[in-house]
Amino acid sequence: MTDKDRKLMDEILKIKDKKSVYIIAHYYQRPEIQDIADFVGDSYAMAVQAQKAASDIILVAGVDFMAESAAILCPDKTVLSPEPEATCPMANSISVNDVLGFKEKYPESIIVSYVNTPADIKAVTDICCTSSNAHIILEKLPENSRIYFIPDQNLAFNISSRLGRKVDYFESFCPIHATLNKADIVKLKEEYPDAELLVHPECHPEVVELADYVGSTGGMINYTSSSPKDSFIIATECGIIHPIHKAAPGKKLIMASEEMICPNMKSITLNKILYSLENMQTIIRVPEEIRLPAAQALEKMIAYSS
Ligand code: SF4
Repeated sequence: MTDKDRKLMDEILKIKDKKSVYIIAHYYQRPEIQDIADFVGDSYAMAVQAQKAASDIILVAGVDFMAESAAILCPDKTVLSPEPEATCPMANSISVNDVLGFKEKYPESIIVSYVNTPADIKAVTDICCTSSNAHIILEKLPENSRIYFIPDQNLAFNISSRLGRKVDYFESFCPIHATLNKADIVKLKEEYPDAELLVHPECHPEVVELADYVGSTGGMINYTSSSPKDSFIIATECGIIHPIHKAAPGKKLIMASEEMICPNMKSITLNKILYSLENMQTIIRVPEEIRLPAAQALEKMIAYSS
């Protein structure tokens, strides 16, 4: 970390305290951003924490759907995004018409949307899920129901195979997690035979099959801290290395690929956070006719998971 970063961090902490702003960051954020946050978590924990935060102003360091989820769940709070252009290509790959088209064909179906979706998609969703609770949500849905899982085909396939449950799914994927292939992972496992392989369920099923542990970013942190093993191959976005190092110091972490860097997550910088706090920009607003049904889908997820 540079002296310039340290100075910026000090300025951010001062202004954040003065204006009573609560900063929530995702594990894929830059290390220096995780270090100035009041709370760092996966997308499920971020949504829950937004509701719990005592402050009336929340700054969300994450991509757009994360700030939107906070705005949907906390209508009485001001939600700031330091970079509203930071988005998720997978979340944007599906349209409301895609969902309504399926629902028209199968009116009795249950729409389960990954939290990586824009607010208008959540508004036509029955229940949301994240990678940390998708298995819990699917298990709680009526046994013979027809489920349309959107928009991540890999998460849909990996979770439904684990549960032995058939789901229909939208065909899209995270371009960062999809960079991993089976051959590269097999090679890495040969190179590091003592390391355990930790894989995010957004990865291809052929990669997930090789894993010692499959789970969300939060799950990976817990796993490495409690495992007796000393080394781990990490198959998710590189931001996760920082919180694992903090939670499990001394353990050896090997990135499954140096290319696992989400440019949208990394487009948020200390400078942008400082500007956002100084100017109270950009306030994220979700129109009430979208917010209300989207809040129902998110709140149902929280109720099913707790
Ligand atoms: S890591 Fe993948 S799923 Fe997450 S925000 Fe980036 S592109 Fe979207």
